[in-house]
Amino acid sequence: MGGAALPVQAFAKFSTAGSPQQESFQRTEPDLILYNGHFWTVDPRLPRAQAVAVSGGRFVAVGSNDDVLHLAAGRTRKVDVAQKTVLPGFIDAHTHPAESGRLHLRQVDCDLRSIAAIQAALRERAAKTPSDQWVLGFKYDDTKTSDGRRLTLQDLDAAVPDHPVLVTHRGGHEAFANSAALKLAKVDETTPNPTGGQFEHDSAGHLSGRINERAIEPFNKVIPSINTRDDYREGVKLIAKMMTRTGITSVGDALGSPEDLQAYQDARDSGDLLFRVYCFIHSSSIDRMIAAGVRTGFGDEWVRVGGMKQVADGAISGRTARLSQPYVGHPNDYGTFSATEEELYEYGHKAYAAGWQLGTHANGDVAIERVLNVYERINREIPRKDPRFRIEHCTVINDSIIQRMRSLHVIPTPFSTYVYYHGEKMQYYGEERLKHMFALRTFLDAGLRPTQASDYPPGEFPAMMALQSEVTRTDMNGRVWGANQCISVEEAIFVGTVNGAYASFEENLKGSIEPGKLADLVVLGRDPFKEDPSTLVTIPVERTMVGGKWVYES
Ligand SMILES: [Zn+2]
Repeated sequence: MGGAALPVQAFAKFSTAGSPQQESFQRTEPDLILYNGHFWTVDPRLPRAQAVAVSGGRFVAVGSNDDVLHLAAGRTRKVDVAQKTVLPGFIDAHTHPAESGRLHLRQVDCDLRSIAAIQAALRERAAKTPSDQWVLGFKYDDTKTSDGRRLTLQDLDAAVPDHPVLVTHRGGHEAFANSAALKLAKVDETTPNPTGGQFEHDSAGHLSGRINERAIEPFNKVIPSINTRDDYREGVKLIAKMMTRTGITSVGDALGSPEDLQAYQDARDSGDLLFRVYCFIHSSSIDRMIAAGVRTGFGDEWVRVGGMKQVADGAISGRTARLSQPYVGHPNDYGTFSATEEELYEYGHKAYAAGWQLGTHANGDVAIERVLNVYERINREIPRKDPRFRIEHCTVINDSIIQRMRSLHVIPTPFSTYVYYHGEKMQYYGEERLKHMFALRTFLDAGLRPTQASDYPPGEFPAMMALQSEVTRTDMNGRVWGANQCISVEEAIFVGTVNGAYASFEENLKGSIEPGKLADLVVLGRDPFKEDPSTLVTIPVERTMVGGKWVYES
């Protein structure tokens, strides 16, 4: 493509110039120019470009090599991108960064492929841990170990006899304890199950070590909270490094607390906040936030208060989503609700009236309908021009759900990597239902604005894995699930960039490479448009830029 053929999009050409901030862009020479690139801008006015100029953390010009290099002044750094593909930074609209960062900091990552490997990892941690302290594991997934069975009390006792051990499942709704842990939690074979939870017994009537849902509470009560304010900050630092190296430049924390908000701000002060955060606040903390006069949008382009989060039903990976049709092979199991319609309404109405965006977790079709009932009622009672109601996950849909979402312009945040990464769990839903799950094709065709969302730790976050999963609908073993929901590479990038910005009311600030927007981008080792879709996940992220600075370089 001839350089001169490309028009340059410079900020100075915008007729809206006039604010002090905008004038400073026009006066300032670029700090940085990236040239010789294949920029895919996601800006319909100039979809492809060769070069960008950056000043003060924002793009000030986008266009051909000739036009942009022409803007260079004495102090401008010029970086030859060597014909690499450059995309806007990816926005993971629903994930749990602060919490997962703390888990990585303090717990044993049990995302391993055999029980023996998990035992070895726990044993190694126990050797470095005083025996009165807990050894905690996370991200264990029974469907991903070669053993074909779950962890047992005996496995854990054999690995770690002296320390209390609790390993939580990746899906978050069950955990596995050793004998020392059961003893500290005062759970024995005669302990009755709590309502909404189980201490599982094996066929001989002995405790198996597996506990689920509300039966986890007695353990949480006796596990001391060891995280200091420094740990909170360090957790953010760690996860920000992990995520930005996969191409993510912005995250939505889907279940934040005031302490998480503080952690993001602390990490920013110490220079460790490598990505931008839109932090949802759980309904349990909403009164404190409203009392402080805070609402959605408070903050700036680095740390911003998001919507209020509620949870309507169970999990897809944990097979507890509330469905209209039972789980395959479990004719009486329709999953579980987590809140009544009245509860969702009560908190939703209060927060919405105080200026909050609403984001409600709903996976199953029945739960989604419940959330739509609540949103429609609130919308009637408090009409607002641009509410951007969100349904977090919004996994299993039907035609009537789509019609109702269209009329309210509801934003869905479906799991981006589940088909690829959690394929072995899809059998519980079945091929027919998969045609209506993670329904990106249907959402886009209906004119809705779905986002990219990992939900890490339950789901994996690399941006290229999201692309592959969404484009191919094929799992790691090559099995296709719901091929009717495939979208194109171009659409998947759109979903992962501008739609993420829209979901946080920031579409004028980020999500595309255009003058005036934040200089967040990712340089890829290969071009996703030329890649075989079945190997998109292997495209290396070579560099990630946030606000004009490299936050990751391979
Ligand atoms: Zn989540």
